[in-house]
Amino acid sequence: MKTISNTTVDKACSCPACGLLCDDIVLAETSTFTTKNTCLKSISFFEKSFSAHSTSPQVAGKPTDLNVAIEAAADILRKSNQPLFAGLGTEVQGMRALMRLAEKTSATLDHMHSEATVRNTLAMQNSGWQTTTLTEVKNRADVIFAIGTDIASSHPRFFEKIVWNTDSLFNKPTPEVIYLGVATENTKAGISPDGKLPLVIPAETAKLPEIINALNALMSNKNPLVKKSGGDLIGGVAISSLNLILEKLKSAQYAVVVWSASNLKFAHAELTIQSITQLIARLNESNRVAGLPLNSGDGDSSVNNTSTWLSGYPTRNRFVNGHAEYDAYHFSSKHQLSNCDALLWVSTFNAHQPPDCNAPSVIIGHPNMQFDKVPDVFIPAGIPGVDHAGTMFRMDSSVAMPLKKLRESHLPSLSEIIGQIEAKLS
Ligand code: SF4
Repeated sequence: MKTISNTTVDKACSCPACGLLCDDIVLAETSTFTTKNTCLKSISFFEKSFSAHSTSPQVAGKPTDLNVAIEAAADILRKSNQPLFAGLGTEVQGMRALMRLAEKTSATLDHMHSEATVRNTLAMQNSGWQTTTLTEVKNRADVIFAIGTDIASSHPRFFEKIVWNTDSLFNKPTPEVIYLGVATENTKAGISPDGKLPLVIPAETAKLPEIINALNALMSNKNPLVKKSGGDLIGGVAISSLNLILEKLKSAQYAVVVWSASNLKFAHAELTIQSITQLIARLNESNRVAGLPLNSGDGDSSVNNTSTWLSGYPTRNRFVNGHAEYDAYHFSSKHQLSNCDALLWVSTFNAHQPPDCNAPSVIIGHPNMQFDKVPDVFIPAGIPGVDHAGTMFRMDSSVAMPLKKLRESHLPSLSEIIGQIEAKLS
């Protein structure tokens, strides 16, 4: 039990702080607020959420009431020909409202973590991929191969809930964990409950492209050292270690290859992800192997799923005369911030600041948000899963989880705010 603060909730609920969306956490009402089945990331999220209280909307930095702020926001969008809706830290209902407003205002949409998401999308668009779900990992995986991610930093209860669980549907051995390109000190979560250490093969993140290519070459019985000098190392990793990884993957009944696109911060990382998916495809010729891309957070899976079913595209899309277009490069916030004539920044889960932009700005989000530059309009919004109910997609996009309202709050939800702005534009 961890004490957070005084409050008035007494509920089992889903945690929106990462893509696992654990639905077994308990926030208990006692004289103090306590949590059960949580992790440090979740506790930090709920501590910040419950310490956030209603603040007034602001226009030009001055407190005002909601109607005035809504009118000011609508006025900015009314005068805009090319607005950018960015950040997009929200859940399904909030994104549905944003999509309607984007269609009405011919806006470009880009999620704050699209840079990472696009690396996966490009690989998937180019050659397809074979991925799995958290439930399948829980029930079937006997080898977890984590590339460039310790998994637990971004998804803290992954091992507790998905890997070391004892209630899988099928009789399977405790999974073996292999880390490639992860510092040894970050691999403690991969130690099994009975003390079995993970196989850790350190490597620099920047060397992962050539290491993954070498794994593919070895899978094709080609020698990746042919044009190399300097011993039997590829990207600092011994060929014998790469062969050991392949042996373990080939002998597994159901191996799962995990990567985090947000950790692969080097040029053309999509090619490395494609190389990972090619390795998975090759391994599948003789046994069962699946990929599991980790998401980045702030509702990215929910936002991109909602965007795709409503417009046909994930974010980095734009509405032109009511028709959706998609461009993973030109519709990035980085490019649009200098072209747009209005910025609508949304961040409801966390108090992420908007990027610097010279265009008039409407900021809707977490009541704790602070600004380096005073926005034209700021409307504090309810935190999904704390101030209002909602729906979120888990990181594997296979399950949508309900979020509960945990406290009485005067903060309007994002969808209510956007609905009111839209009504002003009718
Ligand atoms: S692992 Fe993720 S979803 Fe689960 S309690 Fe921790 S932050 Fe929340």
